[in-house]
Amino acid sequence: MFEHQPRPEWIAAEEFLSRVVVHPDPALQQAINSAAEAGMPAIEVAPNAGKLLKLLVQLTGARRVLEIGTLAGFSTIWMGRGLPPDGTLVTCEFLPKHAEVAWANIDAAGLGEKVEIRLGPALETLAALEEEGRAPFDFIFIDADKENNSRYLDWAVRLGRPGATVVLDNAVWEGAIVDPAMDPVNAPGIIGALELLGKHPRLDATVIQTVGSKGWDGFALGRIR
Ligand code: SAM
Repeated sequence: MFEHQPRPEWIAAEEFLSRVVVHPDPALQQAINSAAEAGMPAIEVAPNAGKLLKLLVQLTGARRVLEIGTLAGFSTIWMGRGLPPDGTLVTCEFLPKHAEVAWANIDAAGLGEKVEIRLGPALETLAALEEEGRAPFDFIFIDADKENNSRYLDWAVRLGRPGATVVLDNAVWEGAIVDPAMDPVNAPGIIGALELLGKHPRLDATVIQTVGSKGWDGFALGRIR
């Protein structure tokens, strides 16, 4: 199985930055703890990346956020913290256990009125959101099954308003983007989505490389034209 390989100094620097600059609140810490207690994988974004999501939501003035991949609600809570009073967030998750743990965390964080968890395969949820007239969204965060990344990007363009922000996690994947044999399961989906990001007529994008507790990875940032 593919494993990330964080170096100890990256983890130490991330812990320092989290403590000195990022300041995750107790509800966010509870999201991490509850996931561990429930035996869920520790594949949430790093605290500094979560805070980046919150700041991006605020900086772009996003009011309607769509997330693909909830886990225990860590990134959901960060983005929810960046919403204005009338803001809303829809998050897609297909595992009932993850959705249940996430809901407890989101509610305890005081975001129960703003956040809706949609249970089921995200591709079905995204089609339902379109049918229900829930678009357009101002900000879309993609962080679920990597095989479907290109499909999620297509949906982001379809459901996002012109000028909306798209963020795609895991854009470097320990360098597997230039050596797909490292992870034949996930790398093709990640590479395909990056290629789509680079050539899509309605997307303007870049990728920031990151290191930390999640290893060597990256955040792709895009704007819908
Ligand atoms: N964004 C979360 C965070 O940073 O706190 C982490 C999300 S985790 C990387 C991916 C989540 O997507 C998992 O909870 C997984 O069950 C869910 N997932 C995977 N494939 C999915 C699919 N096809 N539809 C909906 N959710 C899916």
